[in-house]
Amino acid sequence: MLIGIISDTHDHVPHIKKAVEVFKKSNPDIVIHCGDYCSPFTIPPFEGVPLQGIFGNNDGDGYLLMEKFSTIGAELKGEFFEMEADGNKLAVYHGTYQPITDALIESGSYDVVISGHTHETVNKQVENTLAINPGTAHGFGERATIALLDTESMRPEFVEL
Ligand code: MN
Repeated sequence: MLIGIISDTHDHVPHIKKAVEVFKKSNPDIVIHCGDYCSPFTIPPFEGVPLQGIFGNNDGDGYLLMEKFSTIGAELKGEFFEMEADGNKLAVYHGTYQPITDALIESGSYDVVISGHTHETVNKQVENTLAINPGTAHGFGERATIALLDTESMRPEFVEL
């Protein structure tokens, strides 16, 4: 399974549009957004990609965000979700509290833990758990990145926007 991963878009619509182009070309089975969209108006540009998201710490307008997700056939799943891909168990958490992120990674309960929040890419193997952070798609004047994970090879690829 190919998984697109994006996080911390923080209202940057031009970069969201670039990311959507990358996702449409690589055609992932699912695109996970790890939160910090900020404003609900930034969700419609994701139309056409199989988006599943969680909340970040800067997503105050939860109800309207969920509504925008549902209008494009996407799903905003709350603070945390688990999924399975090619026999691997994945956890998705924004990363608001670093000790929680670390506990998820160190628990050994997951093959992959995906988080965002720090705006820095992470590709780290901790025992049997792969920790991935796609970085920030906003960039904040520095590197704007997203990631693609093939859950057969388990090698994430980072794409600069
Ligand atoms: Mn955050």
